[in-house]
Amino acid sequence: MKILVINAGSSSLKYQLINMETEEAIAKGGCERIGIPGGKLTHKAHGKTYEIEQELPSHTDAISLVLKELVDPEAGVIASMDEIDAVGHRVVASGEAFKQTTLVDDAVMVLMDEIAELAPLHNPAAILGVNACREVMPGKKMALVFDTSFHATMPDYAHLYAIDYEDYKKYKVRRYGAHGTSHKYVAGEAAKYLGRDASELRLITCHLGNGSSISAVKGGKCIDTSMGFTPLAGVPMGTRSGDIDVAAIDFLCHKKGMTMDEGLSYLNKKCGVFGVSGVSSDFRDLIAAKEAGNDRARLALDMFSYSCKKYVGAYMAALGGLDAIVFTAGIGENTPTVRRDVLAGMEAFGIELDDEKNFAKNDGSIREISKASSRVKVLVIPTNEELVIARETAALL
Ligand code: ADP
Repeated sequence: MKILVINAGSSSLKYQLINMETEEAIAKGGCERIGIPGGKLTHKAHGKTYEIEQELPSHTDAISLVLKELVDPEAGVIASMDEIDAVGHRVVASGEAFKQTTLVDDAVMVLMDEIAELAPLHNPAAILGVNACREVMPGKKMALVFDTSFHATMPDYAHLYAIDYEDYKKYKVRRYGAHGTSHKYVAGEAAKYLGRDASELRLITCHLGNGSSISAVKGGKCIDTSMGFTPLAGVPMGTRSGDIDVAAIDFLCHKKGMTMDEGLSYLNKKCGVFGVSGVSSDFRDLIAAKEAGNDRARLALDMFSYSCKKYVGAYMAALGGLDAIVFTAGIGENTPTVRRDVLAGMEAFGIELDDEKNFAKNDGSIREISKASSRVKVLVIPTNEELVIARETAALL
């Protein structure tokens, strides 16, 4: 069985064609600059990279080009579109409308339109991607796989905000979380690595990338997560503030003459480690700047690690103990200094990092970086969100 995984952004579209027998991507790539001049497709297959520069006025044009490339005699990996058994689409927000992976039909797409306002930067793009695929591949089975589904198991006292309950009922304002496919994947891999049944494990999974979120996973189910109604909440991120007293943003809006929309854009795009450091949103740049003596880069990194540490402590309490901590995504997998700082001084809680293992080269495999004596195992696990999307899509068929 072969599943095409699509992750559509407003002007970009990433894809992977996954062979479910081996669970490996036989081709992957992405389109850039959809709807703006300078369209481009980058396609990787047969160990080679193919690039095509072509204007891509719409997502339909982008999908058409991807399919053309997948069946191309040289760069392609399949003889015809019939070899694609189904398409799995990544969707950021589900609201309360969808609790699990869902097959696409007209009624489902009407619901998708209704909840689009929950993630205005992301969901409308996913809808464009689905509609484009339906146009180019009529009749093909398609699934929506939501970033939020893994968090649907959070108990009410963890996912609700302390606002008027009637407003929650009416407007569905609550914590939904994000990066669910990644948290789910690494939690499953951690159980396999530890040789334990997921049902008996208490895990904290730290997805630390451009966007970062931390989840508490008990018995294989998410019981709490740091992101909220939108992916703005939780730890500070590349350009997002993370948790902030909302009264502070009202105050800033008045002082800086910003509307609430502008204030939210400010919190999403100009804050986080970028705003604090004034240097960059990229942790590699921040670490280089800190090493060169830039104190605001040091401050941004310290704020990030301290915030992560507080979530780890809070989730240990929520879980009633801890068996393992997992680090994943760009920073989690590649930045030993962050892992060290997040877990520093937590020996009293049974967390002992092995410096040598923590700083060993990332070889892309699952790595155990805690000391043999550490009661809590610390793991680095490369994430694979596309594979989760493909698995969920295949399971639905
Ligand atoms: P996204 O949320 O966009 O998928 P990533 O998971 O790729 O983001 O994470 C991006 C962050 O990870 C950046 O801050 C970057 O500095 C860091 N990062 C990515 N790759 C590496 C690497 N090889 N070495 C160090 N840091 C990395």
